[in-house]
Amino acid sequence: MTTVRDPLDRVLGAKTAKVLGGAFGMETVGDLLRHYPRRYATRGELTKLSSLQEGEHVTILARVALVQRRPMGGRRGDRLEAIVTDGTDRLVLTFFHKTGYWQRLLKPDAQGLFAGTVSTFRGRRQLIHPDCEMLPDEVTESGLSAEMAAEYAAELIPVYPASAKISSWQIAKAIRMMLDTLDLGEDPLPRGLREQQGLCGLHEAIIAIHRPLDVDDYRRARRRLKWDEAFVLQAALAQRRHAAAAWPATPRPPVSDGIAAAFDARLPFSLTDGQRAAGGTIAADLACAFPMHRLLQGEVGSGKTVIAVRAMLQVVDAGGQAALLAPTEVLAQQHYRSICAMLGPLGQAGRLGGAENATRVALLTGSMGVAARREALTDVFTGDAGIVVGTHALLEEHVRFADLGLIVIDEQHRFGVQQRDALREKAAGGRPHVLVMTATPIPRTVAMTVYGDLEVSTLTELPAGRSPIGTHVVPVADKPRFVERTWERVREEAAQGRQAYVVCPRVGGTGPSADGSDGGAAGDPDDGDDEGGAGLDEAVVAGRRPPLAVLDMAPSLAGGPLAGLRLGVLHGRMPADDKDRVMRAFTEGDLDVLVATTVIEVGVDVPNATVMVVMDADRFGVSQLHQLRGRVGRGRAEGLCLLLTEMEPGSPARERLDAVAATLDGFSLSRLDLEQRREGDVLGEAQAGRRSSLKLLSLLADEDLIRQAREDATEVVAGDPDLTGHPGLAAAISDLLGPQRAEFLDKAL
Ligand code: ADP
Ligand code: MG
Repeated sequence: MTTVRDPLDRVLGAKTAKVLGGAFGMETVGDLLRHYPRRYATRGELTKLSSLQEGEHVTILARVALVQRRPMGGRRGDRLEAIVTDGTDRLVLTFFHKTGYWQRLLKPDAQGLFAGTVSTFRGRRQLIHPDCEMLPDEVTESGLSAEMAAEYAAELIPVYPASAKISSWQIAKAIRMMLDTLDLGEDPLPRGLREQQGLCGLHEAIIAIHRPLDVDDYRRARRRLKWDEAFVLQAALAQRRHAAAAWPATPRPPVSDGIAAAFDARLPFSLTDGQRAAGGTIAADLACAFPMHRLLQGEVGSGKTVIAVRAMLQVVDAGGQAALLAPTEVLAQQHYRSICAMLGPLGQAGRLGGAENATRVALLTGSMGVAARREALTDVFTGDAGIVVGTHALLEEHVRFADLGLIVIDEQHRFGVQQRDALREKAAGGRPHVLVMTATPIPRTVAMTVYGDLEVSTLTELPAGRSPIGTHVVPVADKPRFVERTWERVREEAAQGRQAYVVCPRVGGTGPSADGSDGGAAGDPDDGDDEGGAGLDEAVVAGRRPPLAVLDMAPSLAGGPLAGLRLGVLHGRMPADDKDRVMRAFTEGDLDVLVATTVIEVGVDVPNATVMVVMDADRFGVSQLHQLRGRVGRGRAEGLCLLLTEMEPGSPARERLDAVAATLDGFSLSRLDLEQRREGDVLGEAQAGRRSSLKLLSLLADEDLIRQAREDATEVVAGDPDLTGHPGLAAAISDLLGPQRAEFLDKAL
């Protein structure tokens, strides 16, 4: 019997196993079984060349009869023609490009699957540049072998993602070998669920997806296997939530006469309905005796920080401390300054002018001087600092809290589960409550999966009185006048006392090159927080000119179109002190223009900044551009975002930019982003260097299924937390997670 955990080499031999491992990262039988067909060729279309209809998309099985080069009437070069036959009729395959390659592949007498759209040229039927799947020689030599005949006896022939080293045909063969002796063990889906949803058994589904008898068979299999992906994952997440909720936490109920109430009274604006609702939910969560794990997602500028501060003050009022973890120094410092400003006397305990029941705010970053650092550490340790703002430096071992009650993590996508866990462990009695904030709103089902162990609150509205942001694509190549106009606009704003950002995809200069280290979970965000232009790698591949760089752009603007304005430079390779100084100067209006990398992407809040100019805008992702745009239009004056690009109208890159210009709705843009990138990449597959566990399930298209799976899985786990009564599910979860549970959930979805 073969089980899903068997290593491939034992079943297939070392050679094939090695090829599959190299090409697809497969190790076990289970990995191979979940290598599903990319599509199915239909048997009915294989042999009858005479019946092919013009304009029809077909897949045919045929033999190559003749391959010849033909001159291109009048033009330079030649084309390649292969005549294929089904024994009776003939069809021409025509190739205009890579003719040498096709000539080598299409050997006379070889058989293959050819797929394309039928057209007619000079009275002959042809396929232009068909998809070709050549069958191995052994088969060709002896005609259709028994095996082959068996394979093609089915109506639908699976076509697998293949590679140069192993063909779809060989993969089909390896899988078929396994199906005969396969023991899948207990079904991971509970019987009740299968019955309720009308799902077939796992064994049946695996067989049907690889060797469907007909379209219905394949559809049934696909639906069942999607349920497996959704349900096993959601059950794993439900277990994680369940375990987390079993930890004791100190309840921090609100009080009516504390700092939080005084803070509310000080607020210069009234909260939006969304802020009030989310704030209320969080206040109730904090009052519970088990830890809150909540994601607060909201559009850029929707006012998440205020909610976080209120939550932190509630904890302080209840005698605890709250930590705010920011992904970069720039952000940590900004949060520190703005929280101090928001609190005023409420944050100056023991200082002149401090309010009576005040607390203190401490800042802790990696680059602080020794004295300041010691003072901060002491305040954290004694509990004098009720609110502690910092970067990763907060996670270090020697940072001790008196009574850490709440952790707020800003801009979640840059932190991982391990880091959340590291901070959590700093709470002495019980676990701290955790609030995660992200300004990259994503569809709810995606959030439920990506942040599956968190409850989700969403702010959908922006505070009233926000100025609109106009976004325009500036085509550098065909409208040079528009570029001049861009800089004129910057000068006009500066003349009115307002400020502008100019963002470039690259730092430039002689530092470490852009290696895509984007301050991701594994990196060191204190200095890795830029050069995040998503397209850098592509650029190298495509041989385009290097992206524009801050260190080139700043002097050329200063000596050219922006001469006379006060320019500052900000990027992640600057020492933290310099960054802070520049940011402070910009905040205080001592600079007119900030030429920067994406360090300013997240969270930076300067209401007087009204123009955002993005150089080589096509090098950034849709969500990233939306984030950047969110840096302007935060004050009274209207915001303007100009996306400069050399990309041609109609190109995919231009269409992305046009989409950003066309809407201010971050949710629809994040959807677009998700659709355009592969979902796995979005979920961290790229960083984790692992393959996605989601093969059939689409986080966007299968929302209903995922929602249902989450509900059902939560119920199953609530009734049987260790899944002792659900051994099949337990086994599937442990196969899914492997030894590094948390890491997997965090990164490899
Ligand atoms: P984000 O959700 O992007 O982190 P912030 O919390 O930085 O947004 O808020 C953006 C700005 O909006 C801040 O200057 C903040 O003081 C202000 N703000 C927050 N809530 C309101 C509100 N209800 N009315 C008016 N302004 C608000
Ligand atoms: Mg923010």
